[in-house]
Amino acid sequence: MGMNVLKDLDVSAIEKRAYINGKYVAATTGRTMEKLLSFDGRTTLSGIAACGKEDVDDAVAAAKAAYDSGIWRDCTPAQKRSVLLKLAELMEDRRMELALLDAYETGRAFRNYYEDSIPKAIEAVTYFAESIDKLYDVAIPPRGSEFGVVTRTPLGVVGLITPWNDPMVVSCWKLAPALLTGNSVVLKPAEQSSLSAIRLAGIAKEAGIPDGVFNVVPGYGEEAGEALALHMDVRGISFTGSGETGKRILTYAGKSNMKRVTLECGGKGPYIVTEGCGDLARAAKVLAENMFYNQGQICSAPSRVIIAESIHDAFVRHLKEETLRWLPGDTFDIASRVGCVVNREQYEKVQTYIKEAREAGYDVFCPEEENDHPADAFCIKPTVITDIPADARAAREEIFGPVVAVIKARDTREAVSLANASEYGLAGAVWTDDINEAFDVVSRVEVGLMHVNSYGNDDNSAPFGGVKQSGLGKDKSLYAFDDFSDKKTVWMHFEKTGNGK
Ligand code: ADP
Repeated sequence: MGMNVLKDLDVSAIEKRAYINGKYVAATTGRTMEKLLSFDGRTTLSGIAACGKEDVDDAVAAAKAAYDSGIWRDCTPAQKRSVLLKLAELMEDRRMELALLDAYETGRAFRNYYEDSIPKAIEAVTYFAESIDKLYDVAIPPRGSEFGVVTRTPLGVVGLITPWNDPMVVSCWKLAPALLTGNSVVLKPAEQSSLSAIRLAGIAKEAGIPDGVFNVVPGYGEEAGEALALHMDVRGISFTGSGETGKRILTYAGKSNMKRVTLECGGKGPYIVTEGCGDLARAAKVLAENMFYNQGQICSAPSRVIIAESIHDAFVRHLKEETLRWLPGDTFDIASRVGCVVNREQYEKVQTYIKEAREAGYDVFCPEEENDHPADAFCIKPTVITDIPADARAAREEIFGPVVAVIKARDTREAVSLANASEYGLAGAVWTDDINEAFDVVSRVEVGLMHVNSYGNDDNSAPFGGVKQSGLGKDKSLYAFDDFSDKKTVWMHFEKTGNGK
């Protein structure tokens, strides 16, 4: 047991209100949300504003007024850069607080937030801030008397709808490029993880974001989220969450004003290991780390191993050993690398998959060892399912828990076709020492991001987003600026005066 940091969180001082036009305000109706927290399965958290349509209307009106005033949009790229760099600096100062808030609300290990997730969110803000004054737009070279330039323009008011599995990282992936391209923003955090976003709004004000430019409306998806996505003055929605909600957002755009929609909707990452893989132990280690560090609650998790029959048993032996390093523990114990799943609902959903796999007679392994955690915490041990057919539910559907399905393939050709037999296409990997095989597999697997002999080490320069039903558009990288801006062409005609001769 290490030191427990829960005592460092002043629960009574937590801000739970919406942030609209530079001020913290209660929901117009006075309604709030209440929930049971997963880190001990006993504590309830109540009082977070449940915003509705009126609050969203207020936030969008404030965002639109700020946008129309030009107070932020018309700042130079260098001015925007310095405000966002300040934001990154202030987030660094509040790293402990942000990590505590997210751990408290979601049950993921504090240590993981503090050492990995919050720093990644800060790095994203820094990356985008540093990029904005180094971007060029495009010139269409002179042709006779004609000359064109294509410039990026902001969309206007954009809505960000975010999930709970990595609250600050996903918010910052979207917030930073949205603000830097000149938009005003209304952020609707997930009802399971609102506190850090609420806090971030106040920090952004301190950094110099003008009132109305960044608003936060906590609340339920079908209330605040829907109102935002249906709003006639919102010009873009950037969403991360389930495919079901993603499809709804597309219909809201169709029902309202054809707003730009970008979606990141989950996956079932194929992790292909061929006979050419020279280091099965490392392949298993990297898999376990990426699969289990957040109890599997990562949309790009490599949850579908597709492996050559001849190396299957050796690989599975390594993988089972690796599970011991990812046992869930007390969320707030700084020795814990892994905490809990987000809530009871998620816990039960994951358990259903595991139970169903057991009942179907597949080989379901989880370690016997326990790590210290509160008795009622919603923790799930890392689970490896083998002898499972590729079309079984646990091998096809996104479980969003620490459960990996291992499927056998006769050869690499079959491995690729199994990888592609999925409605998802977010991230994947191939493990082989044969460079020709690696290139071949990489070019055939239908995903947005393919790893070779690695997983999850991509940095902010790598676009993140899927194909097929994993989504539309990209977070991260310079391409993210495209999702928050439009291209505007200025076409010019110049008469030749002869004066320049
Ligand atoms: P998950 O299953 O991961 O919780 P959701 O898609 O339900 O994923 O949630 C992701 C985000 O979408 C959350 O902020 C949630 O509140 C929001 N959301 C859920 N339903 C809707 C909806 N009908 N309209 C807009 N946003 C929604």
